Amino acid sequence: MPSTQKIKRSERGPVLTRQRQIVLDVVRSGDHHPTAAEVFMSARETLPGISFATVYNSLRFLKDAGLVREIAFGNGASRYDRETDRHDHAMCSACGKLVDFDLPGTVALTRSAARASKFKAESVHLTLVGLCPACRDGKSSTSS
Ligand SMILES: [Zn+2]
Ligand SMILES: [Zn+2]
Repeated sequence: MPSTQKIKRSERGPVLTRQRQIVLDVVRSGDHHPTAAEVFMSARETLPGISFATVYNSLRFLKDAGLVREIAFGNGASRYDRETDRHDHAMCSACGKLVDFDLPGTVALTRSAARASKFKAESVHLTLVGLCPACRDGKSSTSS
């Protein structure tokens, strides 16, 4: 590693370079599951000199270290998730908002999915696609 990089030790887990720590902070700072491009935009506010390649490589490192999760949706860009435990997602087909939820009964679902596919199951991940409350009400911002 270049000796010019400041090393910051996190509470636990691997030692992160400043760039990786910033990238991790960006992913952890919200619950909106940013894309690599969105992480890059936010990281640049903290560290103007950071390159997209650095952000991308940091995300890959953090994913391999188990600190973030990558969620790939068919054609769309991968989104990055601070929540690394198994959970399900609901995605808005209008605004692209992605929220976390836990569905009870995924164990039974995994079993029947394994039976149907003849695969040995490891995990199942559900994505509900539909309209988020704001889009359903025809509002662009949330109100109560
Ligand atoms: Zn929406
Ligand atoms: Zn999530």
